[in-house]
Amino acid sequence: MSHLESVFHSIDGSKDAIIHVQRELTARVALGPDNGGSGEHEKTAYIKGLLEALKPTRVQEINAPDERARGGYRPNLIAEWEGKQKGPAVWVLTHSDIVPPGDLCLWKNDPYTVIADGDIIVGRGVEDNQQGFVSSYLALKAIIDSGQDLQRSVGLIVVADEETGSHYGLSYILQHHKDLFSPQDLIVVPDSGSEDSTMIEVAEKSMLWLKFTVTGRQCHASTPEKGKNSLYGAAKAIIALEELNTRFDLSDALFSPPQSTFSPTRKEENVPNVNTIPGRDIFYLDCRVLPQYPVDQVISTAKEIVSPIEKQTGLRIDVEAVHCQKAAPPTSPEAPVVTELATAIEAVTGNPGRPMGIGGGTVAAFFREVGLPAAVWFTSPGTAHQPNEYCRISDIMTDAKIFACLYQNKYGRQPM
Ligand SMILES: [Zn+2]
Repeated sequence: MSHLESVFHSIDGSKDAIIHVQRELTARVALGPDNGGSGEHEKTAYIKGLLEALKPTRVQEINAPDERARGGYRPNLIAEWEGKQKGPAVWVLTHSDIVPPGDLCLWKNDPYTVIADGDIIVGRGVEDNQQGFVSSYLALKAIIDSGQDLQRSVGLIVVADEETGSHYGLSYILQHHKDLFSPQDLIVVPDSGSEDSTMIEVAEKSMLWLKFTVTGRQCHASTPEKGKNSLYGAAKAIIALEELNTRFDLSDALFSPPQSTFSPTRKEENVPNVNTIPGRDIFYLDCRVLPQYPVDQVISTAKEIVSPIEKQTGLRIDVEAVHCQKAAPPTSPEAPVVTELATAIEAVTGNPGRPMGIGGGTVAAFFREVGLPAAVWFTSPGTAHQPNEYCRISDIMTDAKIFACLYQNKYGRQPM
């Protein structure tokens, strides 16, 4: 049996260990203050114990001050193992925090008590993002337990606050410890992907939320001529804004869908009764814009499109950007983290990985923003944030094997 085969064999035999770790992680509820919790301390301490048992070369606890959290900080953890080869390191970043379970009636079991059934593990956090931690940890454990030399330096990063902005998580780490990372390193964020393992996310669209406030004059519905119907203006504006699709019609095959999208989504309540002409209507447009376009151009074009409706109807339409996240520069599809992942995915699953762009936004954007190429990838049916969130044990094993290929430099450039 080759070295890697014996590692794969050990991964295949770790079903009980996977369930055990998932159970322990899920029981340690890691909700940030923005989600009504006290932080990620208990879960991170448990993870630290698991990692220390693998005798890392270095462990750093990076506590981001947050007076709302227990102890006044949010815990981040970085454990590093030195590899035999000089050269790029492999970093895997996962997050400890979870989102609340939502309506408990929708859960078949207590969200924090894991249910294991065949290949499935159910519980809050098992997929988002414990699966990523378990597979990256399992790969390392299988290599170390086998007695083989670890080829590349490997760093496992477990961050807080991914679900509520990353201010106390990755963003904080990059502000204070950016020199840990080199642009040659392979950075993987196993937090989004596809069921067939092949999707490697390398780029994101800019995210822009536009708020439209249509102001008219309220009056009795029996005498509409005395008012100015804001709902009528909102409807006209929503239809007119379809023009954004033709004004920003670039298509980029890297992305799915390939074009920018402009979707009317939320509409606030206007009048509570039927026999009043509304005088104020507010609706929103969710825009996912290809990185080729500056978002300011979308805002000014939206204003330009609704302006004739103001003249036509005598209504006022105010346009405001309530949220704007400019896309980070994409990770090159030729970056080693992408090409090596793609090859390892094919070796393990039979299907080659393919780089793709998505509607946005993942935590990898923080790495890309500071010039560090990062790939977002894992194998998953995508149950994050849902009631009865689940992951598959077989997916964890697949991902662990792919991580083992990266750690052991199976498909990268060999050192001189
Ligand atoms: Zn996540």
